[in-house]
Amino acid sequence: MGTHQQTRPRRLLLCLDGVPHQLIEQAKSRGLFDAFGAPTRLLSPFPTMTNVALSAMLGATPPAGYESLYFDRKAKELRGGIGKYLGRRTPDKVPSSYMDELDYQEPLPFEFLIYVAPEKIWRADMQRFRERFRAAPQNRDYFAFLKATDGLLHAQGPARLGIALESLDKILREIQSYCGNETEIVMFSDHGMNLEENRRVPLASTLRQRGFQVVIPAFGLCSYAALYCQDENQIPEIARASVEVTGVDFAVYKDGSDAVVESDRGQARIEYQPATECYRYVKMTGDPLELGKFQSEFETDAHWFEQTAGHRYPDALANIYKSIFTHRVKHTGDILLSMKDGYYYGWSPFGRFVRLAATHGNALQPSSNAFLMSTHRQLPGYVRADDARALLR
Ligand SMILES: [Zn+2]
Repeated sequence: MGTHQQTRPRRLLLCLDGVPHQLIEQAKSRGLFDAFGAPTRLLSPFPTMTNVALSAMLGATPPAGYESLYFDRKAKELRGGIGKYLGRRTPDKVPSSYMDELDYQEPLPFEFLIYVAPEKIWRADMQRFRERFRAAPQNRDYFAFLKATDGLLHAQGPARLGIALESLDKILREIQSYCGNETEIVMFSDHGMNLEENRRVPLASTLRQRGFQVVIPAFGLCSYAALYCQDENQIPEIARASVEVTGVDFAVYKDGSDAVVESDRGQARIEYQPATECYRYVKMTGDPLELGKFQSEFETDAHWFEQTAGHRYPDALANIYKSIFTHRVKHTGDILLSMKDGYYYGWSPFGRFVRLAATHGNALQPSSNAFLMSTHRQLPGYVRADDARALLR
């Protein structure tokens, strides 16, 4: 499928859902994946969710919402949800055009079964990938998406993922031995994870008690939330009420062409000048993004990236600004919330039978730092999701 077959080796592109940069570095230090160069920090866009991230990384069409359950702004109702997982993967269940590029992805029901029978599921997923790849034509690129790693981490944590990575390492060594240097393997993830036990944030109930009319799709157990407000004029007030809920780190919403960032550490604004591609961070009542030591004058996007790619909130200004001003999804929330690590929002019945060993979704480093590495190329230290396509395809 790649368009550069004449000028570069064939490429095996392998995406491991939800594997943080930190865990790949640890695996490499244990001697796994030693044919690969140093892993880049691939910065997953906020909210750090699979369909948001992969559509950005592959330059594909935006998905309808952040997850399969989403709020349709025109119809003013919740759409999608659990039905997505039932039956075959029909076109209405394909969230973004990146899926058209996949040569291998796990069968649909696996996405849930990983919580019930994680060992069986990831082993079956990896073996199936191994067999399909072996049977594929050797003269064209191959793109596989292993999704079981995400569920394995959520449900079991990093130690069990380590075992899965050992199996994958064996499979990749075998692939390298029969494909040789003619095939470049590019391995990456869509987003990272925080690796600590997570508690649920009582968000919807708190806002409802305060009388706000707001829809907050609750699906996966993740560290972000998207709010859709019935009355636009209430947005600032609802954002302020949200950040008072224990576990909410910050809220972001639009005000004209500025992004307002609200937190219990005060409020700031992100201003953007499209003509010069410059951002400015203006502290109104505080410093929610902890950018205090950085200049508060207009600086180029490239300058900010260089200064803040390794920050606690990676690439904070562009990333958080774009989360509400670009079409990461078709139905952008009025307010996006980023939780502190250790907290999630999601569907409560699901939360009752799953112990959540790790999660993702927020704008902090552990979730934002996905990885990217190659057997053939040295890559820059940090790469934005929006710039990843040129390195992937
Ligand atoms: Zn996940």
